[in-house]
Amino acid sequence: MEPVVCEKLTKRYGEVVAVQDLDLSVRAGEVYGFLGPNGAGKTTTLRMLLGLVRPTSGRVLLHGRPPGDLSGVGALIEGPAFYPYLSGRDNLRVLARYAGVDDRRIDVVLDLVDLTDRARHKFATYSLGMKQRLGVAAALLKDPQLLILDEPTNGLDPAGMADMRTLIRRLGAAGSTVLISSHLLGEVEQICDRVGIVARGALVAENTVAELRSGAGLRIFAEPVD
Ligand code: ATP
Repeated sequence: MEPVVCEKLTKRYGEVVAVQDLDLSVRAGEVYGFLGPNGAGKTTTLRMLLGLVRPTSGRVLLHGRPPGDLSGVGALIEGPAFYPYLSGRDNLRVLARYAGVDDRRIDVVLDLVDLTDRARHKFATYSLGMKQRLGVAAALLKDPQLLILDEPTNGLDPAGMADMRTLIRRLGAAGSTVLISSHLLGEVEQICDRVGIVARGALVAENTVAELRSGAGLRIFAEPVD
C-alpha cells in the first residue's frame, strides 16, 4: 500500500487554480521532495492530503485510506503552536497527553531531533531552527510511518537549515517515509530520493535525484510563475 497517492487532484479558489490534475505517489521508505516555486500549489496539496482543505475534484489516499484518518501520519505544516513559557519537554508532554502517548516516547523524539540538551529550556528561548525541530518531534510522537513536512527549513539560518536536513536524512535512513515540500533545488538534492517538480499547480516532472542532477526537469523549474 503506497503511503501517498493523489489522483487528478484539483483545487480551485474561484478563478485561481491552486492545484490542477495532480497525480502523485510516494513509495514506502522514500524521502520524496515536492519541489516548486512559491505559489506553485505545494501547501494546498499537502493540506488536501491531511484533510484540511477539501479538493475541488480528484482523490487522495494515505495508506489506502481517504484523508481524515490520519493514523500513521505525522505532519508539520505551518508553524507549530507551542506554549512559549513551557519547556520543550513540557510542550511535548502536553501533546503526548492529548495523543495518548506514553511519556517515555518524549525522550525518544527529543533525542531524534537532537534537542535533549535543551529540553528543559523554555520554548521562547529556542532558535527558529530548534522550534521547527520541536515541531518535527511533535509530529513524531505517535511514531508515524509517514511524515509530511511543509517547507521545514523556510526562514531558518544556515545552521538551522543544516540541522533540519540532517534530521530528515536521519529519519529517511531509519526507514521513515517522508514527503517534504521545498522551493530549494539544492535542498531536495541533498536529502531526497525522488523529486516531483510542481509548477502552476501541476506536476511537471518527476525524477530521481541522480536524474535531477543531470539536468532533467530543471528547465521547467526555472520558468517564472505568473
Ligand atoms: P508557498 O511556498 O508560497 O507557500 P505554495 O507552492 O505552497 O507556495 P500554495 O500556498 O499552495 O502554493 O498556493 C497556490 C496558489 O493558490 C497561489 O496562487 C495562492 O495564492 C492560491 N491560494 C492558496 N490558498 C488560497 C486560498 N485560501 N484562497 C485563495 N487562493 C489561495
